[in-house]
Amino acid sequence: MHRALRGKVAAVVSLVVLIAITLIAGGTDGGDSAFPHSAELLLWALVAALAALHRPFGGLALGFGTLALPLAAVRLGPVAAALVAALARLAAAALQRLAARRRSGRLPGRGIGAAVAVAVATLAAAAMARGEAFATASFTWRASVPAVIYALVFVGVFAGTARLAAARGHSLWPAPEGARLAGLGLDTAGWVLGTLLADVAGVIGWTRGLPIVLALALLAAEAARNAILRGASDHQVGDLRRLQHAHRRILAETSGMASVAQQILVECSNILPVRWYQFELEAEESGQMSLEQTSWSAGPDGLLEEGQPRPEERPPMLPGVHRRVSWRVLEKALVAEGETLAVVRLWCDPRQIEPGAEELLTTLVPQMASSVHRARLDREARLDALTGIPVRRILDSQMQQIYRRCCEEGRSMAVIMCDIDHFKKVNDTHGHAAGDEALILVARALDTERRDADLLARYGGEEFTLLLDATSGTAALQLAERLRQAVGAIDLVYEGRTIPLTLSAGVAAFPELHIKTAGELLLLADEALYEAKEAGRDRCLLNLGRGAFKPVSGATRRVRQEPAQQPPRIFG
Ligand code: GH3
Ligand code: MG
Ligand code: MG
Repeated sequence: MHRALRGKVAAVVSLVVLIAITLIAGGTDGGDSAFPHSAELLLWALVAALAALHRPFGGLALGFGTLALPLAAVRLGPVAAALVAALARLAAAALQRLAARRRSGRLPGRGIGAAVAVAVATLAAAAMARGEAFATASFTWRASVPAVIYALVFVGVFAGTARLAAARGHSLWPAPEGARLAGLGLDTAGWVLGTLLADVAGVIGWTRGLPIVLALALLAAEAARNAILRGASDHQVGDLRRLQHAHRRILAETSGMASVAQQILVECSNILPVRWYQFELEAEESGQMSLEQTSWSAGPDGLLEEGQPRPEERPPMLPGVHRRVSWRVLEKALVAEGETLAVVRLWCDPRQIEPGAEELLTTLVPQMASSVHRARLDREARLDALTGIPVRRILDSQMQQIYRRCCEEGRSMAVIMCDIDHFKKVNDTHGHAAGDEALILVARALDTERRDADLLARYGGEEFTLLLDATSGTAALQLAERLRQAVGAIDLVYEGRTIPLTLSAGVAAFPELHIKTAGELLLLADEALYEAKEAGRDRCLLNLGRGAFKPVSGATRRVRQEPAQQPPRIFG
């Protein structure tokens, strides 16, 4: 059976059982007996439930509904008053839940435990009011005992809570303790009013007293209706504001797909109790070999990381006794210009989803889609269409930034210029498509080998460049050697024929080499690359300056003696 339906059935069954007990009990006797007339008991329960609707505080309080309890206690006895209290608490909770569903607000508790607690408190209070000690006292005196008890409890709890709040350094209101206190205060007011009404009814007669009580209950219910309507419009205004903010934030976010994924996670978490999150990019149709990440996920800690989500089998237990539930997985496709760009998946605990939240999420989907669309356009401009790695423009701007920071902070940086050996021959022998395939595989190998912080870019035709922040020349040379080996290990078979691939690389580092602009470092790396080609290809050389080049192993290669550092040679 559907979960929500099961919850409703449980609530209805408990209410029906309580009414049945009441009817059976009420059938036996009437008057002052412990087992009252069922019809009158239900009438008091109705009065109490209507009046209790004006109960803004929830918790264990019956609120203003307590006004029916002294009347029920006087007319039908303490057991009946307790039954009235329990019935009223349940009925009021059910009506409030109904109203909350309509206005898609927060659901109040179902209140079975609270109903029992209220009934027990009522039984005790009403029994004391009817105790022998008060047998000779006037009616008002006797019936006011519960009111006095409530008032005393109220004062005691108030003093205790206020001290506790002061000790914790927060104000009493609107903390939950404050709300509970307010409920208790309203309980007391209800008891006092009920006692007075019972006294008045005793004088003017119950047939004339009852309409007064009913009128008061209806007034309370009307006030509750107004409060609910106002709550509904407040809620709508709040929703609109949240939506407005969310739209603005999502659209403002353009820097990279990961931050779009992060922003979407934030907005989804504002609306739904998201425990696990996944943002998955759809494969692009261009057939491009993208090396970029396609799935991001976040768990309960809310930290976005690359990869797939790992939700537990079921949502975790909630405090208190609850049915075990399964995840509610919400999936939204982000579509722009008729194409699905990405899919957002949210793992939520269905017990914690507010009504209307899913509709709210749906209204945000177009904004999410357009920000993904923008990020994708941005990415397409940033990335090389064939290999999916950044284009030279990105490398140039990053180099300027890193060079500036290195100068300011005295850090080192390095660049590696890579060039596939005899690539023209690959094209000439096996065709351009085979050359393209080789470029894709080399880009992938380099991308796998680079460290996370390194930037790999396609510099031109079959040339790739790595920009290494906070890296010395020697460390860069070692990385270049690993790149060379990785390319050498590529197993490219095209149309049944194996195509061997080798790579030459030139390395240059700052501040080992004196440079005046970031671009000069590239020229120096290119110089080292040229020497690597000259030395026989399939090797890496580090530019030491003044015509000296260092291989990974073996002697330093000195191509010319230069008296002092000269401007670097420029290669086309
Ligand atoms: P060396 O070892 O000296 O680097 O020789 P090489 O043949 O690799 O060097 P050269 O610069 O003469 O040739 C580069 C070739 O790369 C020429 C060009 O046709 C090819 N090329 C450039 N871009 C692409 C591309 O996107 N796809 C394919 N298939 N070939 C490309
Ligand atoms: Mg070349
Ligand atoms: Mg080449």
